Amino acid sequence: MTDIIVIGAGPAGLTAAVYACRAGKSVLVIEKGGFGGQITYSPKVENFPGNQEISGMELAEQFTDHAIAMGAELTVGTVEKIEEANGIKRVVCDDGETYEAKAVIVATGARHRLLGLDREEDLIGNGISFCAVCDGSFFEGQDVAIVGGGNSALQEAILLSEVCKSVTVIQNLANFTGESKLVDILTKRSNVTCHFNTVVTSLLGADELTGITVKNSESGEESTLAVNGLFVAIGLVPETEAFADVLPLNKWGYADIGEDCKSTVQGIFAAGDCRSKAVRQLTTACADGSVAALAACHYIDEM
Ligand SMILES: Cc1cc2nc3c(=O)[nH]c(=O)nc-3n(C[C@H](O)[C@H](O)[C@H](O)COP(=O)(O)OP(=O)(O)OC[C@H]3O[C@@H](n4cnc5c(N)ncnc54)[C@H](O)[C@@H]3O)c2cc1C
Repeated sequence: MTDIIVIGAGPAGLTAAVYACRAGKSVLVIEKGGFGGQITYSPKVENFPGNQEISGMELAEQFTDHAIAMGAELTVGTVEKIEEANGIKRVVCDDGETYEAKAVIVATGARHRLLGLDREEDLIGNGISFCAVCDGSFFEGQDVAIVGGGNSALQEAILLSEVCKSVTVIQNLANFTGESKLVDILTKRSNVTCHFNTVVTSLLGADELTGITVKNSESGEESTLAVNGLFVAIGLVPETEAFADVLPLNKWGYADIGEDCKSTVQGIFAAGDCRSKAVRQLTTACADGSVAALAACHYIDEM
């Protein structure tokens, strides 16, 4: 039996693996997709301390290599549930593979809600972005559009308007749903245009985004916008559905647990973007990974 199973090999999970290995525990990390998590989508990261500029893929490789070098075992699998009997956690994958551990850290992150358009996933990092703070400067002096009308979209649009030539905000409803203060700031910007009752219908460009088509749902009118960047800010979907039995979830589906990363079920911890928190970034994910790992080690030592 492994001491600690970490579900998810993103920055939180791989940091947890490093800390738990250093504390002398055996660690198995189970990952359903690419090792490194969401950051592999980012062409350039400029806010991870120690690296003035690094590609997300390279950073992901560094996280992964570090965890392996410390002694963590990594495997591919999609975890579909965690069972518990007599204090032993059984982690069950969708192919029937089952692993046992004394403690489990859920570090499954959150995925950005997509528009559901053809080639959308291929263009992530090649014109499509989910993070103006991270990627806005790559579009300095260029034309961009942003989809969404809540607080996140408004904040991102304001930020983009400070660096981009033009920002077109596309909202499917008749109004913005975010705070009026943000709406006031945004709509006073001379380089911002807002389209209401409008949806994006297709993405243009082969390897890189060159434009989008939009449709007004009231008039039925379709038009084309030439943009270099499309920011999608229509919410995040936490990857927690499979863990509702062992993690308290808030109404948005995030693990509703505090900074100590401890679930209400003993020996289960949650770290990173899957947890309810204000800031979802690399640094906060890594911070959670370390907190969860040390808490899991302490739990095992007290067993
Ligand atoms: C395009 C883009 C650019 C970004 N740029 C920056 C930036 O410049 N700076 C910054 O600080 N942050 C940036 N971020 C945010 C940052 O990537 C996240 O905050 C961080 O990756 C969260 O780490 P995490 O480990 O909590 O989750 P994730 O990175 O989401 O990792 C979770 C992992 O768990 C896996 N998983 C999920 N469910 C299961 C399951 N059931 N079984 C097994 N595995 C599972 C997933 O496949 C994933 O690999 C960016 C995000 C994106 C998408």
